Amino acid sequence: MANEQNVPEELNRNVLMTSVDFLYNWSRSNSMWPMLFGLACCAIEMICTAAGRYDLSRFGMEVMRPSPRQCDLMIVSGTVTKKMVPTIVRLYNQMPEPRYVLSMGACATGGGPFKEGYNVVSGIDKFVPVDVYVPGCPPTPEALLYGILKLHEKVKSQSVGNVPWYRKETQGSIAIPELGPDIFLPDRAEDIRRLTMRPEPVAAVEEN
Ligand code: SF4
Repeated sequence: MANEQNVPEELNRNVLMTSVDFLYNWSRSNSMWPMLFGLACCAIEMICTAAGRYDLSRFGMEVMRPSPRQCDLMIVSGTVTKKMVPTIVRLYNQMPEPRYVLSMGACATGGGPFKEGYNVVSGIDKFVPVDVYVPGCPPTPEALLYGILKLHEKVKSQSVGNVPWYRKETQGSIAIPELGPDIFLPDRAEDIRRLTMRPEPVAAVEEN
């Protein structure tokens, strides 16, 4: 058996960190708390996913919370109208870190059939950072479950050592967009771009 004193300190630290990460990420990914809200037809499929047939409770996330303060997952399910964007950003800002966003369906991801319509934005990822995209119009409950599993993979790949929410510098809130020709305040455009950039978003598409 190796003498513990011969094990380099850095390795000892890494083993400890790996165990902490495993436990921390396993707990988080098995008890996500989605927010209770839907925007359009995709929301029907999301509700269906939470019902008995698809059994979201096996992932520990069957209770959808009506308050953003109690949620760590925002599922944007449906058409995002310009009037709705400020509310969505406000809800996102009110969620505590760590928090995740799943963009469900063609509308939430890029405007869908209403793309470039006078009242619809071309994707919620222009306003809040998106972690997983689930394609479809609407995506099936199975597709949403696949997206959730992809999110679990992402959560499990994170390390408490470098996640942004434990850094000294605060992330700051995203500027609430204002309704108008450009939807958001032009002088905060740079802030919005910086805060909504999240590395490696995942597209929940089955690989052939
Ligand atoms: S993607 Fe299709 S199903 Fe989903 S909200 Fe848009 S139009 Fe409705």
